[in-house]
Amino acid sequence: MADFLEEFLKQYGGDVSKQLSSTLGIKQETALEMIPVVAPMILGGLKRQMEQHGGSDEQARADRVNHILNKYGRASVLDHVGQEFQAKAGIRKPDPRLGGLLGDSGVQAADAMSSRFNIDKGTAMKIIVMLAPLILGALSQKRDTGGVGQKGIAALIDQDGDDQILDDVAGMLFQRLMGSDSRSRKDTGVLGSLLGQIMQPRCPQCGSSVEKGMKFCPECGRRL
Ligand SMILES: [Zn+2]
Repeated sequence: MADFLEEFLKQYGGDVSKQLSSTLGIKQETALEMIPVVAPMILGGLKRQMEQHGGSDEQARADRVNHILNKYGRASVLDHVGQEFQAKAGIRKPDPRLGGLLGDSGVQAADAMSSRFNIDKGTAMKIIVMLAPLILGALSQKRDTGGVGQKGIAALIDQDGDDQILDDVAGMLFQRLMGSDSRSRKDTGVLGSLLGQIMQPRCPQCGSSVEKGMKFCPECGRRL
């Protein structure tokens, strides 16, 4: 997850967080923190879809991901983030379940984001609905123009995705942020790196990770 997420943040984090901030009137720093919350859920949801519809058949797993990306992941949205957000922000009843991709975990995630980021629940739901097509679009782009191909995307999701996130959204994403370290298994492996991603300070301009105490972003030079 670290790799795809890091790549996404570097490439689109600045633009996406700026647009999200201006569309919804939230701070850009907050918007930037939300990407590493929503993206792993999407990857986890795709992985679960692969398990449920593809089983252990490599081709069937790749087919399932393709089906979802073809339906919901247009790479072109990445060139029109502002327009995409404007359209989605107007939706009366956003569906954080994303059809069946996140299921009820999407609702729990909206709850958790609402309390973690101090935003109302409707806004949290919208954010999930707004960010999802961009993440799916970035996966489509990687598949089609990044030379990764169908099976490559399935392999990426296998490696970077963790569908257990969907079973314990609040626990996985927020327990450590709330100051409890009691479930130490969360500190290892994929989940450990996920938590590291969420807590990593980032440049509000370009999304690159920065160290505490840095005065300027090493990537884009913005004052921090
Ligand atoms: Zn920067």
